[in-house]
Amino acid sequence: MPDLTAQISENLREVRGRIADAAARSGRPAEAITLVGVTKYVGAAESRTLAMAGCTALGESRPQQLCEKAETLHDLQVCWHMIGHLQRNKVRRTLPLIDMIESADSPRLVEAIDRIAAGCSRRVPMLLEVNISGETAKHGFDPTAVEPFLEQLAGYRHVEVRGLMCMASFTGGLEAARRDFAALRGLRDRLRGKCPQGVALDELSMGMSGDYEVAIEEGATIVRVGSALFHGVME
Ligand SMILES: *Cc1c(COP(=O)(O)O)cnc(C)c1O
Repeated sequence: MPDLTAQISENLREVRGRIADAAARSGRPAEAITLVGVTKYVGAAESRTLAMAGCTALGESRPQQLCEKAETLHDLQVCWHMIGHLQRNKVRRTLPLIDMIESADSPRLVEAIDRIAAGCSRRVPMLLEVNISGETAKHGFDPTAVEPFLEQLAGYRHVEVRGLMCMASFTGGLEAARRDFAALRGLRDRLRGKCPQGVALDELSMGMSGDYEVAIEEGATIVRVGSALFHGVME
């Protein structure tokens, strides 16, 4: 059994170093980038170790796993990010545990979140997930649907849209990923001046283990990194 703490701390140091270098290449300080440690491949012990090593924003792509881990790690100051598809019938249970929903992928989901958040007097930070590559297997708003939806947002008082999120194309490697990230940034830049009051598009969540450095070069403010942080402790 590897020494969990040593291995995960080493992985975290490596990833943070690469984030700092990529941030410097984009003319920004390392602190401009939020690292979300994605814990979906590992159990509670590894997740706890990562949080205790200093990575306190954690992400899960399944509501059930997020709930279980959030409950097990409730003694730690973790900010939980929901990064995967959230079904509307899971919103009520997960909302109290979530600090940010990065994967708001349809008007109906946002409507459901607003309605349920109203009942607990919350304003839920969220990102709109955009299917920037257009792949049919992906969730998210069509890029052309984001602007009309932003106009509707003024009616939702219990959600706080802070930016956009995407996943890069499954194929095409880093070149395709860079194109996707640049496209999301372009969309954000175009829409920034058209936001209704209370909506800001400051955040761009893009980049995973294989492409987070490219994402930062293209303007990411949030990167979601899983496997690179658990290298050597998962199969
Ligand atoms: C799994 C996942 C990640 C992290 O993936 P890695 O390649 O392991 O870093 C990031 N974002 C989303 C939406 C995911 O589902």
